[in-house]
Amino acid sequence: MTYRDILEKIKLAFPQPISNTIHDSYFIHSMMRALDQVDDLKTHLPFLGNINAVDFEEGKKSTLPNNMSSVQEVTKELVGYLEGMTIFGHPRTQQNVVCPTTIPSLIGVVLASLYNPNLCWDESSRLVALAEVEVTSMTSKLIGYDPAHSGGVFTFGGTGTTLYGVKIGLEKACPDTIKKGTPENAVVFVSDAGHYCASNITGWLGIGTDNLITIPTTFENEIDLEILEQELRQTLTDGKRVAAIIATLGTTDAFGLDNLMHIVTMRETLVEEFKLGYQPHIHADAVIGWAWSVFNNYDFEQNPLGFRPRTIRALAGACRRIQHLSLADSVGIDFHKTGFAPYISSLVLVRDQSDLNLLKRSAEQMPYLYHFGQYRPGMFTLETSRSGTGPLAALANLKLFGEKGLQAIIGHIVEMTQLLREHLEGHEGTTVLNRGNFGTVTLFRAYPVGVDTFEIKRQEFEDATYQDSLLSHNDYNKDIFQYVNSEAMEGRGVFISTTDCYRKTTYGEPIVALKSFILSPFVDEEDVKTVVAKVLEAREAIAKCGEHSQMETVEIENTSDEN
Ligand SMILES: *Cc1c(COP(=O)(O)O)cnc(C)c1O
Repeated sequence: MTYRDILEKIKLAFPQPISNTIHDSYFIHSMMRALDQVDDLKTHLPFLGNINAVDFEEGKKSTLPNNMSSVQEVTKELVGYLEGMTIFGHPRTQQNVVCPTTIPSLIGVVLASLYNPNLCWDESSRLVALAEVEVTSMTSKLIGYDPAHSGGVFTFGGTGTTLYGVKIGLEKACPDTIKKGTPENAVVFVSDAGHYCASNITGWLGIGTDNLITIPTTFENEIDLEILEQELRQTLTDGKRVAAIIATLGTTDAFGLDNLMHIVTMRETLVEEFKLGYQPHIHADAVIGWAWSVFNNYDFEQNPLGFRPRTIRALAGACRRIQHLSLADSVGIDFHKTGFAPYISSLVLVRDQSDLNLLKRSAEQMPYLYHFGQYRPGMFTLETSRSGTGPLAALANLKLFGEKGLQAIIGHIVEMTQLLREHLEGHEGTTVLNRGNFGTVTLFRAYPVGVDTFEIKRQEFEDATYQDSLLSHNDYNKDIFQYVNSEAMEGRGVFISTTDCYRKTTYGEPIVALKSFILSPFVDEEDVKTVVAKVLEAREAIAKCGEHSQMETVEIENTSDEN
């Protein structure tokens, strides 16, 4: 075979650049076949096919095949890689902050991938660049920014959004670091419930993780404002510069919401008092919480969508913080967290578009780009090539849902979360840990029969004499988790998750918690009740098992006596 023969086969593996109805159908058919094969992996269980052990050592031995393969063969192989994947939309999975993805958002990803727009500038992305501008505008308006003055770009994840916020703040506090490098006296603040990406970012930006000041949180998982103020004062007194204060609006594990309004007021006071020549930048990490903005104008009294009273209270409770998002200088938004879009779809917004100029490189540094066009985000983005998939997926969902749709879907998952809590609180053996948080994640613990669950939570949290009790109940909850998930594996019950450290006790021990993260519109009351039933069943199973092993010990002792 000459290369020409091979080339003919290769060309068939591309969508045809010039309309060819027969081949165009072949392309569509190939896509459908792939989807069909994935559907064949669905059972009643919340994962595709079987969960098999993965041999990564074997994977490391992979080599490039010698010969060409066909579209069909490759498809079949690729589909195989989905085996064992969790079906995040399944009503019987409540595991993590991973959302199921809508059909329009998937179509957005395919379309953007099909013609490969590059968002570095409009010359190479045309109207897909406009999609980015439109999503920026819609979302700005949603959170309360003035779209005429705000700006935004999609970037590589929620981590990327915080990176932009901190980098802009660093330039404000220590001008020209882009040119001169990062000085040693720059610091960043975040709460201890904030995301660990803050540590990554300070590390990668050269600020240094030693200069990331972590502020303790209150029992509601909100940054402790008094300690924040003390630490800020100390920092400024020491002559250091505040590159950024990261406020977390919707912590990953508990949906804690920092009091942004208070932090902003605190900043104004300190700027004046210390006669700072700059405004310490406030970045809101709202990658999870942004979606609650759709309730900013909801009439909670009239309640036109008919949510239950507990849901209304939870939504209003979240909104009392989320409604102030526009006070932040920049905001991070993940459509792939609470926007039902596939990874990666993350948008960083700045209240004042000109903040992005702080990141600009000079045109001479980028000789081959940006000669034409009117939209050139590549002049300041960290990325060079930027995919159009994020903006198109986000735009798809914003258009699909509209404000009402987002209210309905977020409202529903909050409603299911509240139901779960109601049921958990309806039993003596279980207790909700993050009662004061209003998101869709519930951290809870189960206790053996005879434990006073009304008192134990506080005792274990703040009284070091309860350390042994805390630790043994940590193990107890890990056992509960094992039981619940092995049952779910068999098709009986719901997959939940666990965290090794929901937060630390006042005396420094980690509190293990069971975790339910509801993000699927398919979850309903029955599934929520199943979680509670399974946890209670696990309690009994562990109690029986305990009696059993005690009996065994007794028997063994008896036998040895006889001998
Ligand atoms: C998930 C998460 C991040 C990181 O976002 P990625 O999209 O995973 O990079 C940052 N902050 C919070 C609060 C998060 O939950």
